[in-house]
Amino acid sequence: MNVILVAAECAPWSKTGGLGDVVGSLPKALARRGHRVMVVTPRYGNYAEAQDTGVRKTYRVNGHDLEVKYFQAFIDGVDFVFIDNPVFHHLERNIYGGSRLDILKRMVLFCKAAVEVPWHVPCGGVCYGDGNLAFIANDWHTALLPVYLKAYYRDHGLMKYTRSVLVIHNIAHQGRGPVDDFFLVDLPEHHIDLFKLYDPIGGDHFNIFAAGLKAADRVVTVSHGYAWELKTSEGGWGLHGIINDNDWKLRGIVNGIDNKDWNPEFDVHLKSDGYTNYSLETLSSGKAKCKAALQKELGLPVDKDVPVIGFIGRLDQQKGVDLIGEAIPWLMGQDVQLVMLGTGRPDLERMLRQFESQHHDKIRGWVGFSVKMAHRITAGADILLMPSRFEPCGLNQLYAMNYGTVPVVHAVGGLRDTVKPFDPFSESGVGWTFNSADSGKLVDALGNCLWTYREYKKSWEGLQRRGMTQDLSWDNAAQQYEEVLLAAKYQW
Ligand code: ADP
Repeated sequence: MNVILVAAECAPWSKTGGLGDVVGSLPKALARRGHRVMVVTPRYGNYAEAQDTGVRKTYRVNGHDLEVKYFQAFIDGVDFVFIDNPVFHHLERNIYGGSRLDILKRMVLFCKAAVEVPWHVPCGGVCYGDGNLAFIANDWHTALLPVYLKAYYRDHGLMKYTRSVLVIHNIAHQGRGPVDDFFLVDLPEHHIDLFKLYDPIGGDHFNIFAAGLKAADRVVTVSHGYAWELKTSEGGWGLHGIINDNDWKLRGIVNGIDNKDWNPEFDVHLKSDGYTNYSLETLSSGKAKCKAALQKELGLPVDKDVPVIGFIGRLDQQKGVDLIGEAIPWLMGQDVQLVMLGTGRPDLERMLRQFESQHHDKIRGWVGFSVKMAHRITAGADILLMPSRFEPCGLNQLYAMNYGTVPVVHAVGGLRDTVKPFDPFSESGVGWTFNSADSGKLVDALGNCLWTYREYKKSWEGLQRRGMTQDLSWDNAAQQYEEVLLAAKYQW
């Protein structure tokens, strides 16, 4: 098939979280399965790899005609098409920045232009065309694409054989606004009901995710656990009714990881400053070297016996970083080091800095977005903590396991799917889980983990090795996406 992934972010060019990683790697796995695959994403910066195709098109947004250019690159078997207009420029560090209306206008332009890429932009000299085509849209930012595909084209006998799949990476962000926002998306009035959603607190509002979920031919979310949670009133964030109505087209597929970028054997961030690449064969010496390098780089006492606990993620309510905060008094009574990397809510950023200054010999709170540090912490830490309140899939625990770093996680969504708890009797499992977002539960799980680290070295090594030998690659997930694409095309 011809497959076009459309997303607001795509690593390595733009990334705020897991979505960027997925859009950077799933297409390559689909291409390896023999499909012709393209990614369409905004051109936020001046990307060296991408050439101007010379194609120009104009789209109307909020009464203004905006011209877009299309840049293109062919990398690892995938066509990357970057949509260019000044509204996207210099936003790579602030992709979802600006006012609600600014973001909405950007996404209207992006989706209007993206849906016509298969007609206008030649890749390798030939346009994809709309004959055997499926779009994969991602999250609310591109949820307008399935709506436009239907309302502008398929309802008028165009793009008749083109299908759309919408992937839910995070239901918490939905593109909500007052009902009047409908007039910005430039659709005939009879489509307004697609977007209208009743909220018990605010009454009727405009909701882009709601419209996308209804219009898409299939819906995927990024784990089985999250697919279940989305149908509950707690997990569906107001969209559970629509998700239940469309259950027949929903499927959970756990994300994979990019085995080139996130592989301790080849990781480019482990090639300097005392770090080293390592594999299953060199696990204990390689990891010890990375741990010492991390301690040295961060100015912590270099000590091979003290367990290093890592946290990487957006600093917000979702990631449960405040639960770590509540556990600090207990944690500081232990012989441990804690390394936290994150950016987000100012009060939580302040909290990280404060922990570091209060416990300078034990805590580092790195406020910022650093891909290099994320890789180095994943390699150098012994334990990765993920106390997320909800977690659609979660990639950091997958990366951690691939690096022999043992995860301790709240058992929700994708974390529950991917972290099988350690059972000391059968010597099975890959980490520790706790079953409510509560700092006391976190302390219990982490306490058991630390005890095993100190007292049962053989079990610890078993945990690391089982984590590293799992098949976490994208290949399996890509096969499941292929099944969904085929179902979208042929099963009605
Ligand atoms: P989410 O998509 O909810 O943010 P995921 O666990 O799915 O969470 O993916 C997070 C991705 O973002 C991972 O690749 C992680 O390493 C990266 N990341 C998060 N915060 C930072 C940060 N401060 N610096 C570097 N990378 C980060």
